[in-house]
Amino acid sequence: MAPGGRTTVPRSVPPDHLACAPYAPGRMTERVCENCGFGDEELASVRRVYVVPEAWDQPPKREVVDPPELWCIPCITQYPCEPVDAESGEED
Ligand SMILES: [Zn+2]
Repeated sequence: MAPGGRTTVPRSVPPDHLACAPYAPGRMTERVCENCGFGDEELASVRRVYVVPEAWDQPPKREVVDPPELWCIPCITQYPCEPVDAESGEED
């Protein structure tokens, strides 16, 4: 423990999260695709895949983005992505 002369000031947490939380009585219908922003009932959890084409100095690469996103079916069929298996916990 180094005496750094650091004082921990207790910060009261402002109730910001209450203010900016949107009042959503029934958040069942308004789901939008996180790729194109289009509202769609049929969204699937996928992981976005960045495909890096082959270059003169590097082989082609496939990069899977970790936090899964909700995509609509057209986006899933048009853009590279990987389906996310339904994991327990997120289901409500
Ligand atoms: Zn979409």
